[in-house]
Amino acid sequence: MSVRSLIAEARAIRIPLGRIKKFAASLEKALHRKISNQDKPLGNTGALVTQKFPLKGAAGKSRDPIVVLRASPARGGSGDYVLGAGLGKSPKVSGPVIVIDINGSIPASSIWNASQPGAGGAVASRLYNVLVHELTHAADPGLPLYKGRRSKYGKGGSSIPTEDEIDTKAYYNAPEEVRAFAREVINDVDHMIAKWGTVGKLWAPGKALSILLKNSATWNRIEKYLTVKSRRKIIQILSTELRDRKVS
Ligand SMILES: [Zn+2]
Repeated sequence: MSVRSLIAEARAIRIPLGRIKKFAASLEKALHRKISNQDKPLGNTGALVTQKFPLKGAAGKSRDPIVVLRASPARGGSGDYVLGAGLGKSPKVSGPVIVIDINGSIPASSIWNASQPGAGGAVASRLYNVLVHELTHAADPGLPLYKGRRSKYGKGGSSIPTEDEIDTKAYYNAPEEVRAFAREVINDVDHMIAKWGTVGKLWAPGKALSILLKNSATWNRIEKYLTVKSRRKIIQILSTELRDRKVS
């Protein structure tokens, strides 16, 4: 491994966060239109919304994924608008496909209400979170193929497994997942890094890291599953981000 690729290894995978935010808002709008006359739970549907997201892969070739929203029944009684997402390949399209499962067990009218213009964008915000994770996989130069990622750790089948259906230890510590979670952690605290960055070197490195980790919802959720090695990796990526942005 070259020095250059070792340094790249310790950096968060770059994805266009501003464009992803706008894209999530446009998906929310399209979903809102699609389910306008429905009250009952959506159950199991095919594609409700399909949109392409232009993403140039770090490897230099286009990795523009097709993003598909569909509804699936919630297992485990989740009341969340978005149940999960997965990156894979479809025989019908040439590029990667990101499938996002919308909760098919709650009334469609509640999703419709939450996705109304001016309602606060709760659905868009959930779509944004899962897109950041899956698009990090799509842009990951260490992942040459768009094979199903999570299905490896789940019990099989075409549905995206829930947290209690996966081998959590294997899933959370897979190298590509650690890279995607590092991206999510940075994303969670991006506003803090941005604020600190304007003041220049503000904190001792250790102090800045611990404040940021405490404020990352992703870190707080996944830390218990991580091995020492995976934890170190995420902290190392966050630390490089701070150095690059001249915070510590
Ligand atoms: Zn993943």
